[in-house]
Amino acid sequence: MRNRPGPPDSVAAAQAAVHRTCTRMVADRLVTGSAGNVSIRVGDRLVVSAGGVPYEYLEPGDHPVIHLDDGRAEGGAKPTSEMPLHLGIMGTMAGVSAIVHTHSRYAAAFAVARQDIPFVCNENIGPRSERILVTEPYASPGSPELGEAAVKAFGRQPGSRAVLLANHGVVAIGDTVEDAYLVAAQVEWVAEIVYVARTLGGEHVLTPEEQAWIGRNYGIDFARPSPGTR
Ligand SMILES: [Zn+2]
Repeated sequence: MRNRPGPPDSVAAAQAAVHRTCTRMVADRLVTGSAGNVSIRVGDRLVVSAGGVPYEYLEPGDHPVIHLDDGRAEGGAKPTSEMPLHLGIMGTMAGVSAIVHTHSRYAAAFAVARQDIPFVCNENIGPRSERILVTEPYASPGSPELGEAAVKAFGRQPGSRAVLLANHGVVAIGDTVEDAYLVAAQVEWVAEIVYVARTLGGEHVLTPEEQAWIGRNYGIDFARPSPGTR
């Protein structure tokens, strides 16, 4: 058995992991062109994906390093236009080590419909929450408000690992970028299953007891909406 990758121990390793994840997002059709973005925490800095250039034209060293304290960039190409989203989450959620942001199609459709995705199957273990929540209010891409909306949605279900950005896409977080990537892929899986189930007459949402059974099976506690947040 091969070892699962841990957090990168250097900027170069993080740049390689960011690049690998970006090309994987395109290959797995979670984004197209230069869409989506990725970040990995390395101490008090972030390695973020370069922006505006299709990933096939980039190399690992093109992904810039950003200082968390003041947002200044160090080396590499121009950072993703979603820097405020990454800085907003990494600056306020100390336990987050990696972020994967995709525009995957079924999940984006739920985000456009402004519908939370319910708990229906095993793949909900990735997002680790009773529902995959849509951010509110709507915030424009690239704005600081988008980061604030994402942090607020994560805060409504403390411990959750994915939210839908209204009219936009998916934000998944994790201890490693590989974890966050899997969460983003699982969000898309669940979104497609729920959509297809609705064409068949509607999904059956698992009860809290049924969810808890799955959680025990995988050693996971699912995040629940905190009181007063619906
Ligand atoms: Zn986006």
